[in-house]
Amino acid sequence: MRTRRTTRRVTVGNLFLGGDSPIRVQGMTNVHTRSLEACLEQVHALIERGCELVRLAVPRAEDTAALRRIVEQVDVPIVADVHFQYRRALEAIEAGAAKIRLNPGNVRERRQVEQVIAACKANGCAIRVGVNEGSLPGRLSAAERRDTPELVRRMMETLQGYVEIFEANRFENLVLSVKSHDVRCCLAAYRAASRRFDYPLHLGLTHAGDPLTGSVRSAAALGVLLAEGIGDTLRISLAGDPLTEIEVGWELLTSLGLRPRRHPQLIACPTCGRMEIDLLAMVRQVKTVLQQIAEPITVAVMGCVVNGPGEAEGADVALCGGRDKVVIYRAGQKVAVVPAEQAAEALLEQIHIFCRRSERDVPS
Ligand code: SF4
Repeated sequence: MRTRRTTRRVTVGNLFLGGDSPIRVQGMTNVHTRSLEACLEQVHALIERGCELVRLAVPRAEDTAALRRIVEQVDVPIVADVHFQYRRALEAIEAGAAKIRLNPGNVRERRQVEQVIAACKANGCAIRVGVNEGSLPGRLSAAERRDTPELVRRMMETLQGYVEIFEANRFENLVLSVKSHDVRCCLAAYRAASRRFDYPLHLGLTHAGDPLTGSVRSAAALGVLLAEGIGDTLRISLAGDPLTEIEVGWELLTSLGLRPRRHPQLIACPTCGRMEIDLLAMVRQVKTVLQQIAEPITVAVMGCVVNGPGEAEGADVALCGGRDKVVIYRAGQKVAVVPAEQAAEALLEQIHIFCRRSERDVPS
């Protein structure tokens, strides 16, 4: 792991991005912002799951009107995602958005960008310049789209041109992103951006795919960048439930030791022909209970004695399967040996005891 690169520190509502502030996990709703009730419900669920900035799409004036109501009811920064219409940005800033995302590919007129900058200055609002490989200005031929160095050159040229407008207007509350759906292009673009600019970088692999494919591809790209010290905030873009994006984002950061764990960690063996218990059923049962616990305990569910005792002794609570019996551990010590059919219940009992002893609040 390389030391995190030094960036400016940008204020976004009640938190900082960049500098020595933690790498933030962002998310985005996938319902219409103007469907206020549904949107607010999703915003609250995202925050509950650990989302530190929530982005909302605002394609219509009704969306920026709803954004105002949402800003009033939550205390995490709300980011307005603006494409094509700079007026949506002006409305969102006036409605209390903490940050605006502008796409240089579709809000191009300098005069309009300068109006947004002036409004942001007046309202203490930050701006992310979000260059996206899929919406670069001008037409790209199929050959150019397959040419990673050329794509990166075009992305950097677009970013540079846009940033110059902000710098000419002495606006520095700026975050940058250079997203691509391609892992290698994403790596090259962010490396180039980190060499050229000292603004905080918002990491993301755009259009990453379904939760399984998208999580792997996002981890491949963002994991490498983070290990190189690049990145100040991230959003995992997945098709599907936006709450999964938050879980994956946190898992990525905690796996790299870049943020402390907030939620339980479940270690489970991959299962094999040595297994003597119905491990998958137990994993499902334990996972359901762990989702209700907001404490960073480590629980291990292991199928046999090959690796079981070692993992169990290092976990807060664990079970290790045997022929007909299962050994239960708490804080590294064997505390019970129970028949296999009682294993899940015995493990859950020990999770509750462990959390109570740590003065942790666990649902029954
Ligand atoms: S812990 Fe045992 S059952 Fe699980 S994968 Fe390893 S050898 Fe197989």
